[in-house]
Amino acid sequence: MLTGPLPNTLDVRKAATRELKVEGTLKPLDLQRFAALLASDEGRIQVAMVFYRDEEQRSLVQVDIDAQVEVVCQRCLYPMPLQLKTDNTLAVVWNDDQARLLPRHLEALIVEEDCRLWDVVEEELILVLPQFSYHEPVECKIDLADFSHAPLPEAPGEKSNPFDVLAQLKPGKEEK
Ligand SMILES: [Zn+2]
Repeated sequence: MLTGPLPNTLDVRKAATRELKVEGTLKPLDLQRFAALLASDEGRIQVAMVFYRDEEQRSLVQVDIDAQVEVVCQRCLYPMPLQLKTDNTLAVVWNDDQARLLPRHLEALIVEEDCRLWDVVEEELILVLPQFSYHEPVECKIDLADFSHAPLPEAPGEKSNPFDVLAQLKPGKEEK
């Protein structure tokens, strides 16, 4: 899908009244805090936001993000591609008090005047970014097969039971 950059600021309450749909793309470097968590500046972030009012006249925004970025594989420490997808409905509120009154399925978006849409996208992406990512085994620079073919350190019969050692270490609990 070819679209322009996502607008940065928007009056989200007006957008909800008008039932606007806003779409656009961002680059990882547009979101500095998020970019700092990535392996590179490569990638693109596709965003669609649909604004509407619900039956209780709340201003809602359905945020759909599909991001393709690069993170560091925690096994081999080389970059790896990662897709992040979010699909969340936020309710526009004025303050924390209003946020607390929202039903559980709605997440609060606290906005006084214009909303910085890029910040919303950044928050959502940071929330879904896994803390640790790993290549698929066949793609990882560390070959897991090397480990599985390594000779066993000792024959199974000679293996001592680690629980025997533990039992010896335990202070004398006598059994009848
Ligand atoms: Zn890897």
